[in-house]
Amino acid sequence: MRSIEEPKVYLVAKTQLVREGLENYLNDIGNPDWRPDVDVSDAENLIEAAGRMCYRSWQPYDPSKPEATNPNISQVRRGNERYIANVLKSGHGSILEHVNMTFICRNVSRVFTHELVRHRAGMAYSQESLRYVRLDDLSFWIPEAARNNPAAKEKFESVVDFLENTQKELAEIFSIHDSSDFTEKKHLTSMFRRLAPIGLGTSIMVTGNLRSWRHIIAMRTSPAAEEEIRIVAGQIAEVCKQAYPNIFQDMEFEGESGTWRFTHSKV
Ligand SMILES: Cc1cc2nc3c(=O)[nH]c(=O)nc-3n(C[C@H](O)[C@H](O)[C@H](O)COP(=O)(O)OP(=O)(O)OC[C@H]3O[C@@H](n4cnc5c(N)ncnc54)[C@H](O)[C@@H]3O)c2cc1C
Repeated sequence: MRSIEEPKVYLVAKTQLVREGLENYLNDIGNPDWRPDVDVSDAENLIEAAGRMCYRSWQPYDPSKPEATNPNISQVRRGNERYIANVLKSGHGSILEHVNMTFICRNVSRVFTHELVRHRAGMAYSQESLRYVRLDDLSFWIPEAARNNPAAKEKFESVVDFLENTQKELAEIFSIHDSSDFTEKKHLTSMFRRLAPIGLGTSIMVTGNLRSWRHIIAMRTSPAAEEEIRIVAGQIAEVCKQAYPNIFQDMEFEGESGTWRFTHSKV
């Protein structure tokens, strides 16, 4: 058994603004008095642009710019942080769906992945295939209570070692090493995994839009959530807050309970 110290997340992709395209659009509608803020992330500028496009609220009404302004609007909120604060307060979260963040979660268990994939709205997943990847070296993360209890820790380790040996013994029984037929290998590998522990370490790539990430962070860092998903969701929350401080401006870490709390819980 290979011991996992802690599951880990890697941010591997995020939405990028095509500034030239946005600039061309703004010029074509009559050059309103608004441009992306150079001190703000692409994603936050994109979300602001989505909101302003909806209401033609790039600037106050100007009859010389009929396609860019709205006769109903005599003043506008300036500044990305203020603008997004109002979006969050009003619960107009659909514009947050234009921005995606993709993570690889490494050394996570199938307990974790079963829970994560229950989040469907705005999410995409690619999970390590245990039909293709044969298990002969089990990595395993032991939850805190068992880690701190020598008898329980020993029980975890001996059962995982036993199951790891079982994988190797099944491979021998079926002489899988001698087979060159990949379909047969896949069939056997899939059968062997039934005797693997649900806590074994694996990987999943997950993409979510920011509206969904806010929801998942709130639900999965809550004290009611399971230990491992709380750790991973906490790591994702930190990355989100650092990347997009304006979108996550109402999310604060509550140290005592280890929870990330939102002022506007469901936008
Ligand atoms: C502490 C905790 C304990 C749990 N215990 C259990 C358990 O015992 N058994 C179990 O099966 N699951 C359990 N779950 C999983 C839970 O029931 C959800 O399936 C999971 O958290 C996904 O969240 P979601 O339903 O908000 O879906 P998401 O896909 O994250 O959806 C986000 C939001 O979109 C809306 N939405 C999504 N899909 C639909 C739809 N089809 N129709 C209408 N609106 C939709 C809802 O408003 C939803 O909240 C638990 C979750 C937590 C956090």
